[in-house]
Amino acid sequence: MANCQRCSGGRMCTVQAYCGTTFYTKLGEKRLRGKIPPDMGIGSDLDGVFFEYCFDCGQIKGDWPLETTRLERGNPKTEEFP
Ligand SMILES: [Zn+2]
Repeated sequence: MANCQRCSGGRMCTVQAYCGTTFYTKLGEKRLRGKIPPDMGIGSDLDGVFFEYCFDCGQIKGDWPLETTRLERGNPKTEEFP
């Protein structure tokens, strides 16, 4: 496991959670649910959330900043709810 990309610390934690289509997110004031979009930097659109983050600084491992995401453009695999 590589060290943190921000602080170079070695206290990296891997998180893996399967949620199927019960993924929920809030983007600004918009609440969305459905399948997890693959371009959020926290997993794939298969089944769940997968990411590594640093216990020292909180950085999530990945390529940041993200391009405009599917959620921002209106992802057909998520729906807005009140
Ligand atoms: Zn760090």
